Amino acid sequence: MQTYLVGGAVRDELLGLGVKDRDWVVVGATPEHMLAQGFTQVGSDFPVFLHPKTHEEYALARTERKQGHGYHGFSVYSAPDVTLEEDLLRRDLTINAMARSEQGELTDPFNGSKDLDARQLRHVSEAFKEDPLRILRTARFAARFQPLGFSVCQETMDLMRTMVAEGEVEHLVPERVWQEIQRAIHELSPCTFFQVLRDCGALAVLIPELTPDAIFSVAMDALQRVHAREDSTAERFSALLSPLDESTCAERAKALKAPNDCQQLARLAAASIPIIKQLDPIQPSASTLLELLEKADVSRRPERFSQLINVLECTLESGDQAQLEPLKKAADAASGVNPQALIKQGFAGKELGRAIRAERLERIAQAVCR
Ligand code: ATP
Ligand code: MG
Repeated sequence: MQTYLVGGAVRDELLGLGVKDRDWVVVGATPEHMLAQGFTQVGSDFPVFLHPKTHEEYALARTERKQGHGYHGFSVYSAPDVTLEEDLLRRDLTINAMARSEQGELTDPFNGSKDLDARQLRHVSEAFKEDPLRILRTARFAARFQPLGFSVCQETMDLMRTMVAEGEVEHLVPERVWQEIQRAIHELSPCTFFQVLRDCGALAVLIPELTPDAIFSVAMDALQRVHAREDSTAERFSALLSPLDESTCAERAKALKAPNDCQQLARLAAASIPIIKQLDPIQPSASTLLELLEKADVSRRPERFSQLINVLECTLESGDQAQLEPLKKAADAASGVNPQALIKQGFAGKELGRAIRAERLERIAQAVCR
């Protein structure tokens, strides 16, 4: 039995980057071997084990064949006679298909280190076509390594285009798509992820509303700006969908199965943008400002409101940025209304609601009038 370090750890070490998690492949062993040595098995589909002390992942060398569509259609073959090279062959990119033995020797049958030097993301074999998730992974690695000069090589781009044309991307389940989007928007060059997906045609399947030139460039500008500020997933995602109208944005966020906080913020931002753009810059309407604050449920969700402001700051063109000042002032002014004081004055029920609203409106008008 031989154990090798594989995948990202070997790649990142050769790039001189810090290694976060380490994956191992074991050649010449059976599940019984592994269990007898104290490993615990995880996952029922693949023969993958956790080390008793380090809890790192050790996978038995395996081959995979495609049987149906999408991610579920794989038949996995794992036995002591599966070689390291056979296991590396099933991997996505050449830079991810290298292994290092315990003695330190590098196994690199697909010239991954050459592609590392040439800054190329290249598929290992035609079997790349068997899993459409690899398109998203490739786009994500492009987003991560773009600052180091990496790009997707022409042959891989052509293969990804063919996969898209053959309808493979439609078989991806939303959960896996979301997982990749969520990771990608936190990579060093998040826009590169969407550029690669757009170039190969996958974006037209996954988020078709973003593909037209004008919309795409607004979305990328917003994403780039929000990225520079190191904001949360919800803020990043909302910036991405900000050029869409409210209902399109809400439908897309739901179809992608984004978490609730992401869906809500994205919808709120998309709904707020046209309202803010229409505010009169000289004399903004207090009732429109209050309407916006109510939509944002600012009194109960102050944190989300500050996220909304962040997204709007990254999304609005410089001309419309000034409109955020009255909105912030209005939020401050409205927060000064004290419902307890109104209750003491004898307001209750619907009357109380009306009184709160009236006082907020008055305070907002005072705060924003010039
Ligand atoms: P990261 O730094 O994000 O962990 P990684 O390359 O280690 O990058 P993992 O998702 O941890 O990526 O996967 C480990 C290895 O497994 C990859 O390097 C690659 O060789 C292989 N791999 C993972 N997912 C796939 C896939 N869908 N198709 C082919 N190979 C894959
Ligand atoms: Mg990894």
